[in-house]
Amino acid sequence: MGIEITNQCVLVTGGAGFIGSNFIPYFLEKNPNVQVVNLDKLTYAGNLQNLNEIAQNNRYHFAEGDICDRVLVEALFKKYHIDGVIHFAAESHVDNSIASPDNFIKTNIEGTFVLLEAAKKSWMESPNNPKQGFKKARFHHISTDEVYGSLGSEGFFTEQTAYAPNSPYSASKASSDFLVRSYYHTYGLNVVTSNCSNNYGPKQHDEKLIPTIIRKALDAHQIPIYGDGSNVRDWLYVLDHCRGIELVFANGKVGETYAIGGNNEHNNLFIAQKICSLLDRLQPKQTGSYSEQITFVNDRLGHDYRYAIDASKIENELGWKADENFDTGIAKTIAWYIHKYQTA
Ligand code: NAD
Repeated sequence: MGIEITNQCVLVTGGAGFIGSNFIPYFLEKNPNVQVVNLDKLTYAGNLQNLNEIAQNNRYHFAEGDICDRVLVEALFKKYHIDGVIHFAAESHVDNSIASPDNFIKTNIEGTFVLLEAAKKSWMESPNNPKQGFKKARFHHISTDEVYGSLGSEGFFTEQTAYAPNSPYSASKASSDFLVRSYYHTYGLNVVTSNCSNNYGPKQHDEKLIPTIIRKALDAHQIPIYGDGSNVRDWLYVLDHCRGIELVFANGKVGETYAIGGNNEHNNLFIAQKICSLLDRLQPKQTGSYSEQITFVNDRLGHDYRYAIDASKIENELGWKADENFDTGIAKTIAWYIHKYQTA
């Protein structure tokens, strides 16, 4: 299925974060007629350097600010004639949500609400009746498979799986998913939601698992792995997620959700060992292997055991397929972080 983005100016929220800063350059290059406004608060997780490659692009506009700031959000909709939203902005680190959930409730729930209200006000004449010029205006909410809770050693999450979030992070994302759903069912706002598995790739914040493993290994520190390292995640290369988002935004059915996953299930210990063995080849230590630095630390509270996605809906209905397998994706990722940490 071809992709034709007919929206003229898309508001991307949280574009200075990991996935957003991979998405914006990709999206601008693929869609030469689209303008992008990036609204980002630049929290500790946002880094404008990740967008250096498009900073001078005249179809890219940056606004520093908070998605909870209703006046600012409404002003941006007006100023840029926004007719599409791709909403990434969130507090995203589960460990932080356990230590201090307040910002997760504020940004992930209230921020999503403010954006939905602004979209409704700008785009809708009345319920189920879009304004002239906004018939194709669409709100795409980026969410996570963590809203479905935890799996045992068998089975997969699908779009039909009942929500069962277990951390303050996943509960706040689940709440935002429900708000998005309600704006479709109540007001007829043109919304789509995608729920994706764990992403990895360039530009991810140092706090996350894969950058932590690479950094600690290269710094000759202990590499901390929660519990016994048996927790399983389904890893998707970030650009495969970006292509999925573009497809859902362009061709997804209004009001529907799409699960996106890489079919690359690995436990945390496997990930650490895999990275160590690649580093052993690329940056050999004088003696021994990086894997000797792996240490097990107290498990995360309420740590979900396993996430895995059945992505057949997006594959069959929209023709999406991941380009990278874990071997090719992790090789690109490690090369990027070696460069980052050695030139820092
Ligand atoms: P990230 O933490 O790397 O980036 C979040 C960005 O949002 C940052 O640039 C930050 O400055 C910005 N932000 C935070 N609060 C804000 C606010 N109040 N107003 C404006 N901007 C704000 O996150 P990410 O990993 O890029 O994730 C992006 C989205 O994708 C999130 O909604 C997350 O739930 C979802 N998601 C992430 C993954 C993953 O593996 N990283 C997987 C599935 C879904």
